[in-house]
Amino acid sequence: MSGWEAVVGIEVHVQLRTGRKLFCADRAVFGDAPNTHVCPVCLGLPGALPTLDPDAVELAVRTALALDCTVHRTSIWARKNYFYPDLPKGYQITQFERPLATAGTLAYEGSDGTAEVRIRRIHMEEDAGKSVHDRLPGATAVDLNRAGTPLVEIVTEPDLRRPADVRAFLSALKHLLEYSDVSDCSMEEGSLRADANVSVRPVGETELGTKTEIKNVNSFSGIEKALELEIERQVGLLGGGETVVSETLLWDDHRGTLRSMRSKEESHDYRYFPDPDLPPLALSDAFVERVRQSVPELPGARRTRFQVEYGLSEYDAGVLTQTRAGASYFERVAAVTGDAKQAGNWVMGPLQGLLNARGDTLDDPPVAPESLAEIIGLVRDGTISDGAARQVLGGIADGEGSPAEIVAARGLRQVRDEGALEAWVDEVIEACPDEAARVREGEERLVGFLVGQVMRRSRGKADPRRVNELLRVRLS
Ligand code: ADP
Ligand code: MG
Repeated sequence: MSGWEAVVGIEVHVQLRTGRKLFCADRAVFGDAPNTHVCPVCLGLPGALPTLDPDAVELAVRTALALDCTVHRTSIWARKNYFYPDLPKGYQITQFERPLATAGTLAYEGSDGTAEVRIRRIHMEEDAGKSVHDRLPGATAVDLNRAGTPLVEIVTEPDLRRPADVRAFLSALKHLLEYSDVSDCSMEEGSLRADANVSVRPVGETELGTKTEIKNVNSFSGIEKALELEIERQVGLLGGGETVVSETLLWDDHRGTLRSMRSKEESHDYRYFPDPDLPPLALSDAFVERVRQSVPELPGARRTRFQVEYGLSEYDAGVLTQTRAGASYFERVAAVTGDAKQAGNWVMGPLQGLLNARGDTLDDPPVAPESLAEIIGLVRDGTISDGAARQVLGGIADGEGSPAEIVAARGLRQVRDEGALEAWVDEVIEACPDEAARVREGEERLVGFLVGQVMRRSRGKADPRRVNELLRVRLS
């Protein structure tokens, strides 16, 4: 592939989390029985008129502001005309010549460090319904529950050069959208759908080559794979003196292949015109200002603040700001304990381990941040050992009660009674004569092994620091 450069621009459709449709009051939810959320408006019955949901506008404007776009005070609804069974009106309401917002940017961590992709435009539109191919044998069914649900389409400039960078960019975008709380961003449920436009050109060439558009990809890794394949194909064609045909390609995730869906239509094929049923979308300065105030602290800003305010490393700050819920959780634990370092260690370590094991996330934490803070306090004042603290964490997740109750019920209070500690130490020295002898001969690192044995014998209750001291005295 040397001598060639790929050029990629992305179009992302994001479902806004208003819970209702853009131009009628039907609910917009994923997974309900087919055709149960429909009405004359989204069915396109004659005489039905659209009314705009202001909440969707607010989320769209918030998206645009989070991406540093210029939000236009007037944008125009347009009809995009085409025939398809999942589009009962025969047109999609979208924005064309005058979109909601233009000229933004988004930074991401690419293969050459931090890079920026320019956002060309963001417009609002309604989604189509769904053609369902696997429900009726030999036939295609139509489910119109999705018809009319609110979307923003985010279109980038062709600023990306490598499939891995496309993936990194999309992760950054998803992260930003989640933080902004505008969408649930589920690729599996189709609330975040990315199409990739790609062309190749000889290195040094500044004109763009003919592009193809890859659709139907439902994971970031799928996009990366599809792009690698398509770039190789285009380089092969151009290298062999042939040309690339402008077309839409469908990704088949099972087979890992691309197939041609249709030759690419031009915008004039859609006969766009302003929708006569909808007035221009007019936004006041006050409204845009109010939405600006509602944009939450975004991932980059929060990461920096975590480093400055809590003295965390760049890496830890990155991990702890991975999700908005996780970052808030950490902040709560840090506030209650007054110890950000320990809060970070416990959130990223034992708590994350527990979440992974249970398949939970911090959107719905099995242990409240106040409880984790209490556990950290119990370790700090020597009431329980580290190992016992992990047990308490598990106990809380299993609904056994408060940290103090679990410590009492499970008998986890750390034993610092010298008599009991000495008895365990003696038992272990007797049970592990070889290791004990080697420690006597100076093999320091085996002390840890013996401490571990005592901890096991005490079922985690012995005070490990004191055990360590006692062992060293006995074996010196
Ligand atoms: P179309 O009219 O085919 O929809 P647009 O100009 O609207 O094309 O661009 C759609 C997307 O394709 C944008 O993200 C843009 O950055 C990207 N794009 C446009 N031309 C190219 C090209 N030659 N190579 C790669 N990406 C491109
Ligand atoms: Mg386009």
